[in-house]
Amino acid sequence: MPASPDLLALDGGTPVRREPFPTVSDSSGRRIGAEEEAAVLDVLRSGRLNSTVGQVTRGLEQDFAARYGVPHAVASSSGTSAIHLAVAALDPEPGDEIITTGLSDAGTVLPILAQNAVPVFADVDPASGNLDVASVRDRITPRTRAIIAVHLFGQPAPVAELRELADSHGLVLIEDCAQAYLTATSPDGALAGTVGHLGCFSLQQSKHITAGDGGLTITADDQLARRARLFADKAWPRDTDERTHLFLGLNYRMSELEAAVARVQLTRLDAVVEDRRRTAKLLTDVVSGLDGLGAAGDDGTVYWQFPIFLDTDVTGVDAHWYAEALRAEGIPAVGGYIQRPLYLTPVVAEHVTYGTSGYPLTCPPADALQSYAPGLCPHTEALIGGRLLVVPWNENYSSQDVTDIATAIEKVHRGRPGR
Ligand SMILES: *Cc1c(COP(=O)(O)O)cnc(C)c1O
Repeated sequence: MPASPDLLALDGGTPVRREPFPTVSDSSGRRIGAEEEAAVLDVLRSGRLNSTVGQVTRGLEQDFAARYGVPHAVASSSGTSAIHLAVAALDPEPGDEIITTGLSDAGTVLPILAQNAVPVFADVDPASGNLDVASVRDRITPRTRAIIAVHLFGQPAPVAELRELADSHGLVLIEDCAQAYLTATSPDGALAGTVGHLGCFSLQQSKHITAGDGGLTITADDQLARRARLFADKAWPRDTDERTHLFLGLNYRMSELEAAVARVQLTRLDAVVEDRRRTAKLLTDVVSGLDGLGAAGDDGTVYWQFPIFLDTDVTGVDAHWYAEALRAEGIPAVGGYIQRPLYLTPVVAEHVTYGTSGYPLTCPPADALQSYAPGLCPHTEALIGGRLLVVPWNENYSSQDVTDIATAIEKVHRGRPGR
């Protein structure tokens, strides 16, 4: 007798899907074509591979600034470096505090430590995983210098409110837009990255557009832009004739080869975002109909990946169970997004920074020493612990791909234990 179509693959039933899905890890889930090839060849043949002698990186910066309607974009070597440029541009004093989220890529937090500032973690909104404004407000102290908000999975973080909060306390707001190209932050359409003082983007393999690695930092502030640019180039003021170094900077330059790819990728961005949003809508319609599961509000969301928020009181099983059951059905899925909040990783929790010093985490006066321990951000921990289910997404998903994902989610939802 054939297995019932309802029997979960986890329990020996037939998987919903046997074909692999398009993935951002290779060309199946990417849009990289003849134009990128030609652009890279042009750079190679010119012999000008470094941005200090070529014009392609400067061109990318101009194109990116124009797309965002801001005066300045500064290219760098990664999303992490793009955030490091932003933090360095505001030049914190050692021990100054920067409030951010524990539910992100480490690239959000490492630049804070590298610049000798202290990360302070605020909790997130359980419905989106984005920073909760009230929690940020609670964690402001006289030592706070900046806020780094992440637009998680491309969902708009409440940056208008955070900007107001920042302005009323004299703080700088940095937007981490690594997952949020063309995210609209509000009905009036302000793009993520243009509401704060600085916006930071990544061109790493898995993002909406890629050059393998790479980063971009945007700002409307001339002074911040100048410091960011200098920081990425050894603080060498090449616009003067002096060979000197104005402050402690590094070499975070993007190469012309990466810029050549990125510049073409940028021309594909609008279509990439449109296609991701169109297919995501199909899954949103299905997920929203399932008791105990919630999709992202799709207003301005650009779906770096597709997050599903569980009410585990209703579902009875957590996101880690759903992920395992979905993988058995042939659907890639991850429970929790990351395995632990950033404040519980060794670099932060155990102060594994510079030698055995623990700097900068051990520098502040005793009353300002942070304790990074379980319980610090309960909603963050609940999402990672089992309320957040993540389905990988990309611009090359077909309607059939989404139908298979939806079918599998409905199947495991109906067949979950205890139901
Ligand atoms: C990818 C990512 C980064 C870091 O970007 P890299 O290019 O990998 O250095 C930072 N923040 C978020 C939210 C990211 O998704």
